[in-house]
Amino acid sequence: MNNPIQCLICGTSDSSVVAKARLSGVEVYDLVRCSACQASFFLPMPSPSALAEHYSNDYTFYKGDNFKAQGKGAAFAKKYLAHQAQGKLLDIGCASGDFLAGVQQGSEWQVFGTDINPEVVASVQEKLGLDVRVGEIENVGFDAGYFDVVRVQDILEHVPEPLTFLKECRRIIDDKGTFYLSVPNGLADAQNLVDYYVKYDSPAFSGAGHIYFLSFASLKLLFEQAGFCIEKTYSYNFKKGLRSFSVLPKSKHWQRDLTPPNALQPASNQGEAHTHKQKKRSVAYYNFQFMKDEFSRVSGIHTYAQDFMFVLKPF
Ligand SMILES: [Zn+2]
Repeated sequence: MNNPIQCLICGTSDSSVVAKARLSGVEVYDLVRCSACQASFFLPMPSPSALAEHYSNDYTFYKGDNFKAQGKGAAFAKKYLAHQAQGKLLDIGCASGDFLAGVQQGSEWQVFGTDINPEVVASVQEKLGLDVRVGEIENVGFDAGYFDVVRVQDILEHVPEPLTFLKECRRIIDDKGTFYLSVPNGLADAQNLVDYYVKYDSPAFSGAGHIYFLSFASLKLLFEQAGFCIEKTYSYNFKKGLRSFSVLPKSKHWQRDLTPPNALQPASNQGEAHTHKQKKRSVAYYNFQFMKDEFSRVSGIHTYAQDFMFVLKPF
């Protein structure tokens, strides 16, 4: 803690340890924050095997409401792709692939996906017959300028080298293309880990696998370095954000999600929140849900939002 730590985003040597944190394995990492760009990140960076272990098939984020994801894809196509009859869209970190299937149903666009979990990818290929490739985006070999639209939702905070990731996104997007990126507000996201660590004097569990906690300043820097300019910004999930910063009281079981799995009592009802009742509903219902999400997003960058969305253009 006494030696200056160099920021992995802006390179300034003025970072300090703000908490200890864990993924699914036994390793304990420092959570380091840069005082210049306000980015926080795990140190050391988790190894590929530690990350692979975390994203095993128990990773609950692969399990969602398939119909809802499809409905969202179709609504997205209607709103964001209608200006062009045909084109190519890539969803990086496509998980179940249902969003892509929805885009395909709602438009004439060709859809592509990638995910790092081979079993998930195999099931998307088999179930939906889509061109989905397994691996990190840098390694799947798409041609330069191949895509008109690339979508990255809640992925950037998981990758060990965000700048390399964004540069590859830039390379494969057409010069006139659009990049839709959703990412947590790193300051809000890291605050829960810090609060847990301070309260329990024990490493906080980054259950979703977030290893970067990117502030707006650090994101701006990354976009610039990767070759993107910001066209639009949005903020959303304000209630959650206000809870993260303890402006509103934390939710009743906030500490449960931050407790490493082997520390939980067997009798706890963990996992309950992840059982979804799946029911297919009308197109109008999904359009309405989509619009509701759209309206809940406020233009601009707001400190107390839990999540940000960016519309980026190559330069
Ligand atoms: Zn920094």
